[in-house]
Amino acid sequence: MRQALVPMLDLRLEYEYMKNDIDAAIAACLAHQGWILGPEVRGLEESIARYVGVGHAVGVSSGTEALVLALRAFAIKSKKAQYFDRRDEIITTPFTFTATGDAILRSGATPVFIDIDPATFNMDTALLKEYLQREGEKAVGVIPVHLYGRPCDMDGVREGAEAGGLFVLEDAAQALGAKWRGRGLGSIGDAGAFSFFPSKPLGAFGDAGMLVTNDAEIAGLARMLLKHGGLDKYDVEHIGYNARLDTLQAAVLLAKLKYLDEFNEKRRKIARAYSEALRDIEEMELPAPSNHEHHVYHQYTIRVKGGAKKGGRDALQEHLRSHGISSMLYYPVPLHRMKVFEGRCKKIPFGLEESQMASAEVLSLPIEPLMTDGQVGLVAERVKGFFFALSQARRA
Ligand SMILES: *Cc1c(COP(=O)(O)O)cnc(C)c1O
Repeated sequence: MRQALVPMLDLRLEYEYMKNDIDAAIAACLAHQGWILGPEVRGLEESIARYVGVGHAVGVSSGTEALVLALRAFAIKSKKAQYFDRRDEIITTPFTFTATGDAILRSGATPVFIDIDPATFNMDTALLKEYLQREGEKAVGVIPVHLYGRPCDMDGVREGAEAGGLFVLEDAAQALGAKWRGRGLGSIGDAGAFSFFPSKPLGAFGDAGMLVTNDAEIAGLARMLLKHGGLDKYDVEHIGYNARLDTLQAAVLLAKLKYLDEFNEKRRKIARAYSEALRDIEEMELPAPSNHEHHVYHQYTIRVKGGAKKGGRDALQEHLRSHGISSMLYYPVPLHRMKVFEGRCKKIPFGLEESQMASAEVLSLPIEPLMTDGQVGLVAERVKGFFFALSQARRA
């Protein structure tokens, strides 16, 4: 396959940029051969806890497992039960990656999907509060998702959760380094989950994740659950998993962590360049975070009015593709439209029109931190060219 002129990401380029650090980290593992919970795992946990600003960080095998372990730990702590049950409701949005909802099902609870704020793509916290007031007596927790690396309205989430006595688990899988009112995402709720999937802001060479919390009991339970359910594998207390973070992944991540702030800054700079170049196009909405949202642009996602209609989002994506420019749809299907959730989620209280609309209108543009100014300019020119041709055609 021909390499796109402008790919979404270029992980080979990033590896070249950090090669010396990464190769040295891997060589150290080859020398010590401590593959299971080796010193790099603890090293990464300590570094991430410091970076995010929390008391505890627990390395796990993926972001999904971080969510599941956190939910299981909340069930054990608050219900004294291994799992939640079907009557327990956990609230999130359907405009997210499958894993957010999947983790709720795996914890035994029922997902309740609340619509998004169309301006931020994150949970509409006014709807959250309304739901909790009207029919929230079964709700036990809420999972705000910081989609694309942009903070969810954590003031609204906390107000709603505190009034209803709910736990807050931040799905910060896409948002390591992002902040809400100066506080690191993942540190604001009762726990947070990060993913180190290769394309995430801090990417491993495979699957990896991290659970963070200030609650020592939750951290302790997660530590047991990730190795079969007990501190000692021959004296097991809980129904556990094998969900350890690999030493080798931890070593790679520790080496790459030094570059995270620099890379997030590069993403933010690319985002500013896109926003500047594309600001006057009427058919399109650009991300516009407010001052208290430190957005790290895991994705730069625009909204193209008209969606799949003629001249809409799908046509723009095809236009970019024909010019060698990659783009992606995150996410084309909201969770409540997936088979696994139909019949397993609570009937949606206020409708999910905004999530539905967003899935038809969003388009994420390339945001490889090491892309050149020329590439950024080229993407913007091609997007502008598409809308210019469209307006010419309309006029004719
Ligand atoms: C990536 C992601 C996850 C899952 O992380 P994995 O490491 O792929 O298991 C969960 N939630 C969101 C929002 C994600 O983007």
